[in-house]
Amino acid sequence: MDLEAYERRARQGPCFVCAFLDGHPDYGHELVYEDADHVAFLDRWPTLPGKVLVAPKQHVENVVSGFTEDAYTRMMLVVRRVTLAVETLYAPERVYLLSLGAKDGNAHVHWHVAGLPPGVPYEQQQFHSLMSENGVLDVPPAESAKIATQLRRALS
Ligand SMILES: [Zn+2]
Repeated sequence: MDLEAYERRARQGPCFVCAFLDGHPDYGHELVYEDADHVAFLDRWPTLPGKVLVAPKQHVENVVSGFTEDAYTRMMLVVRRVTLAVETLYAPERVYLLSLGAKDGNAHVHWHVAGLPPGVPYEQQQFHSLMSENGVLDVPPAESAKIATQLRRALS
């Protein structure tokens, strides 16, 4: 993974979620779940196996105040369902849920669902395991497609 190119893309490119939903060829992702208002897809640069991003389809930038209580609850129920699918498939020791992004890049609300495999040393858990600077998994496209299929099955 080229971190500088990634930062340029995040800060100067189109919104990565909206571009994905628009079918932009450079912003394709393996779809894991979709309903009328939400989408979930594999992280293109996962630091942990089976890492999924969950986002509202609407371009919302404030993770709590950008939603009505009902819309927020429905989104978090999707996060829950995706997390349960990740737990079924990967039996992680712990699942991390984070909403990151910035006004300057990747502003569209998205939740990271990241399962920590059992056996990772304590000092390599938590933020360490989530930072691209510490290494991104090399998942060939065919493997990503397979993971997405398994997650879709676990979600259905
Ligand atoms: Zn967007």
